[in-house]
Amino acid sequence: MSFKLTILGSGAAVPTLNRSVTSQYLNFNERRILIDCGEGTQMQLRKFRVKFQRLQFLLISHLHGDHYLGIFGLLASMNLTGRTSKLTIVSPPGLKELVELQFKTSKVYLAYEIEFITIESKTKELVFEDKVLKIFAFPMKHRVPTYGYSFEEQSKRPNVDKEMIKEYALTTLEIQQALRGENIEKDGEIISPNQVLLPPAKPLKFVHCSDSLYKEALVEWISDADLLYHEATFLEKEKDRAKATMHSTAADAAKIAQKSKAKKLLIGHFSARYKNTDKLLEEAQEIFPNVVCVEDGDEYLI
Ligand SMILES: [Zn+2]
Ligand SMILES: [Zn+2]
Repeated sequence: MSFKLTILGSGAAVPTLNRSVTSQYLNFNERRILIDCGEGTQMQLRKFRVKFQRLQFLLISHLHGDHYLGIFGLLASMNLTGRTSKLTIVSPPGLKELVELQFKTSKVYLAYEIEFITIESKTKELVFEDKVLKIFAFPMKHRVPTYGYSFEEQSKRPNVDKEMIKEYALTTLEIQQALRGENIEKDGEIISPNQVLLPPAKPLKFVHCSDSLYKEALVEWISDADLLYHEATFLEKEKDRAKATMHSTAADAAKIAQKSKAKKLLIGHFSARYKNTDKLLEEAQEIFPNVVCVEDGDEYLI
């Protein structure tokens, strides 16, 4: 199992010299996923050496410019540089029409297929599944329809208990039987699978929570994440501004991490008013100690 998250853009609203607007690249066991695509994302992909032709999924949290305006340029560049493989785009309503209008107006015919999946769910909903990964979407609380995404590894098989295998002298066929959940008959004795198998390792979980006011319902949907990203645009002292723009503070993000029992929290989408992240980190750490303020180009492994 491999997991790597690359922060392509960590800022809110407008790009600055130090921070691009929101985008993250996720490689989850060779499933290659772009989460949000603010303006300039294709340059960040080049800068941080991500091969954009290999992207399979583009997940957009919501249709505020800092989260999706880079999509037109990226899709056009994919076409110009010879993409033929299908791309799946998941987003709230409206993006399909915007993309189609853009390419219709400029009379560009894409040489690759785009599959659009539109989400309108009021609760946590499965949007994709294969043999290694499940992707869920769940609604955030923002000025336009906005979704968070949860990336969950499929349940693993139980592990074989080597000592017990030796003790019962089980053959390969008998081990397979146990892994299928069947009892084994050996020298007149019945051996049940749980006598020779160990519980499987906990499946990996990464959660991306985009723009939102503090939302208590998240706690149930995102519980026990190995890694949680949550936006933290403001400090508590700018709470009024946070409420007016429907964003979270560093303390809000930390509360969600603490209540949902995340192992580690990443915060980002910082307002350009903060010259550095010291106070944002301090505010979050008081509630949830294992927190990091992300920077463009950071890589996180699990
Ligand atoms: Zn935003
Ligand atoms: Zn927004």
